[in-house]
Amino acid sequence: MVEYKGDLHIHTVISPCGDLEMSPTNIVAKAKEVGLNIIGIADHNCTKHAPLIRKLAHKEGIFVLMGAEVTSREEAHCLAFFPDEERLALFQEYVEERLPHIPLIPEIFGYQVVVDEQEEIQEELPYLLISGIDASIDDIEQEVHNLGGLFIPAHVNRSKFSVISQLGFIPPDLKYDALEISRHTTPSEFYAQQPFLRGNTLIQSSDSHYIDEIGAVSTYFIVEDLTFEEILQALHNENGRHVFIP
Ligand SMILES: [Zn+2]
Ligand SMILES: [Zn+2]
Repeated sequence: MVEYKGDLHIHTVISPCGDLEMSPTNIVAKAKEVGLNIIGIADHNCTKHAPLIRKLAHKEGIFVLMGAEVTSREEAHCLAFFPDEERLALFQEYVEERLPHIPLIPEIFGYQVVVDEQEEIQEELPYLLISGIDASIDDIEQEVHNLGGLFIPAHVNRSKFSVISQLGFIPPDLKYDALEISRHTTPSEFYAQQPFLRGNTLIQSSDSHYIDEIGAVSTYFIVEDLTFEEILQALHNENGRHVFIP
């Protein structure tokens, strides 16, 4: 088994709140600099930068989990990651069909741009991506798992936009692959507040919106290889694979 360092929650310039420095090229360079082996690309309600970042990261030996941070109808943020570009594209369609058509006002919310390797703008996304989509947490969980993806409620300790802040608790029948805690807590602090959640797999991620935040916290994956399947097994504590927060 090998120990790999991961940060599974990184925004790009697609997210209105993501800094304009957060281009695919800069993100991969920073991930390499801080020694990350696995990065998760999770823009608000959009997956469009993940394939390019995967291509660039591959050259540096960094594994990319391609996905998004979806906002549910309840305004709970959830990370969703997919094993290949085909299923990623199907999920992109699912989210687009359900995103309210609220025009983006860049002066208020920031820009939402897709760029290429040279940081040339390829597309400006017209609708505000931080809105809740027309799907419940359960609907999103089912769609993600039907597509063979990973479903991870985001920053569950936060007092805003988390499953716990929006519902008051984690529904016992919600099928998640792990729970994410933000960089502002620790596993022991979190369990002290939520003792019933002991025994869950926790990951901790940076939720980076700025380049210097990448890798600020991390989760280690003990796996044989860097593959989607191995990461899934680690989150489920199967076949000797596991994760830990340093
Ligand atoms: Zn969030
Ligand atoms: Zn986020």
